[in-house]
Amino acid sequence: MQAEIVMIGTELLLGQIVDTNATFMGQVLAENGINLYQKTTVGDNRERINRALETALARADVVLTSGGLGPTEDDITRECIAEVFGRPLELRPELVEELEARFRRIGRRPTGNNLKQAYAPEGAVALENPNGTAPGLMVEDARGIVIAMPGVPRELKPMLKDHVLPFLRKRFNLSGLVHYRVLKVCGVGESAIDTAIGPLIRDSANPTVGLLASPESVRIRIAARADTKAEAETLIDAMAAKVHVALPGLVMGVDDETLEGAVAAQLRARGWRLALAETHTAGMMAQRMSTADAASFAGGLVLPAAACPGSGAAVCARELADAVRRQFGAECGFASVLLEEAGQARAVLLTPEGALEWELRFSSLGEVGQLRATVSGLEHMRRHFAGVSEPPW
Ligand code: ATP
Ligand code: MG
Repeated sequence: MQAEIVMIGTELLLGQIVDTNATFMGQVLAENGINLYQKTTVGDNRERINRALETALARADVVLTSGGLGPTEDDITRECIAEVFGRPLELRPELVEELEARFRRIGRRPTGNNLKQAYAPEGAVALENPNGTAPGLMVEDARGIVIAMPGVPRELKPMLKDHVLPFLRKRFNLSGLVHYRVLKVCGVGESAIDTAIGPLIRDSANPTVGLLASPESVRIRIAARADTKAEAETLIDAMAAKVHVALPGLVMGVDDETLEGAVAAQLRARGWRLALAETHTAGMMAQRMSTADAASFAGGLVLPAAACPGSGAAVCARELADAVRRQFGAECGFASVLLEEAGQARAVLLTPEGALEWELRFSSLGEVGQLRATVSGLEHMRRHFAGVSEPPW
């Protein structure tokens, strides 16, 4: 079974909104083992929408669309589908009733153009939309099925999950699913990780292993196809174990787990609290630590970026770390101070067991530089608490 999606809306072409629906649709289709072959975006133009639907129908068994089902002049998806299938639009009394009931519930009266939404191409199935006025539409002929959903994400998401996917799974006898796990590594470059787990990426078929890099982390995505989620988890467990062997101690979290969450858990396990003095991360570390766990975060000081000359940075960082530790009554104090060289800082972590000092490196002082320095600082703490030695690269 092959699927395509057609995203409808001039605002998508103009870049006025981000196409989050396409991302969502791609994710849930993949999770359900449905192959998405092509995605097309068209503006609110009758001829181009018709052509996009026709060419997609010629290639795929199922064409999912998003947008243009509303009541306004530029919402023309309904009309286009009617044309492409050669089926006239008919007024459906049950849709009129639903529309009127919905407007009664929200204490408003439908305007004339709202009635547009009670029309459907002859033979089309209307899909319930509990979060809006426009029902979805499903039309089929020998070429395939078109399933049209509203553009408002709050309306599209439940319609896709609750109605469209169960229908597709049954109709095309889809038993399999694809399940993912994401392992996150911070403070190690993408190419170093690629070198370490390259064979797993190249030689894996099920599960597959892929890399996604961002300034925050490199995410290792393990995707398994199986009949049940439990079977997929078993396949993923085996592959994850190989990744852990190749990257000892470097996986800082799984799926939604965060770096600051990992550090907070390590502090909590020791009954320690952390105080921070930030001179070039603009409070980013404090923001993340206090969000992760207010109990293990004692307080933080945000200072303007200023470099210490010569070996002054190390002394300065030590004094600051000790000062915030005492000021906030914490067991641990962290400070980092810029060196004169661009993109380098001296960091100090004081704990009841001793002091740890290291150099932080990052690209710039802009927001990305602040993020990299924040991640570098937190990851150093995490590795220290976890007893992880530096990777050999
Ligand atoms: P409505 O009944 O609200 O008019 P509709 O089906 O006509 O729904 P559109 O008019 O195309 O949908 O879009 C309505 C709003 O939904 C847009 O202004 C935008 O905020 C959001 N939206 C539309 N398409 C997308 C998309 N692909 N990704 C994210 N948001 C979208
Ligand atoms: Mg609209």
